[in-house]
Amino acid sequence: MRIGFGYDSHRFAEGRPLVLGGVMIPFEKGLAAHSDGDVLIHAIIDALLGAAALGDIGSHFPDTDEKWRGADSTDLLAEVVREIRGAGYAIGNIDATVICEQPKLRPCIDLIRDQLAATMHVGKGRISVKGKTNEKMDDVGAGLGIEVHAVALLDPL
Ligand code: MG
Repeated sequence: MRIGFGYDSHRFAEGRPLVLGGVMIPFEKGLAAHSDGDVLIHAIIDALLGAAALGDIGSHFPDTDEKWRGADSTDLLAEVVREIRGAGYAIGNIDATVICEQPKLRPCIDLIRDQLAATMHVGKGRISVKGKTNEKMDDVGAGLGIEVHAVALLDPL
């Protein structure tokens, strides 16, 4: 088996929808990004690519490429999952921690897990997403953005 770790952070921006794990989260701000800013999916993609030693999200979907402007990160994740399978791996499990002061994620976690499981074609029991605050410390604690840490385990097909 192989393990991978992924990290991403984005700062909040006015006038954008907040999308986490492919789910629209009710909140007054979204995340600044070249893509839809789905920081959770970006961290998961890096964990998956890392586990397979296939590079990172930037090498697959460069933010200098107009092709990926406003990209739906769910599509990028589906593409990476195909690539992982093509390299001979099945997804064992994913565990992610989403850190922000606001919004409160607990009411959305189940829906996010459903959506990620559907996109990745795995059972929901293989997908864990946890929300927490940074106890008001540092920039994330000051409410400037969202940070995500994720690990992925891959099994040989
Ligand atoms: Mg990102």
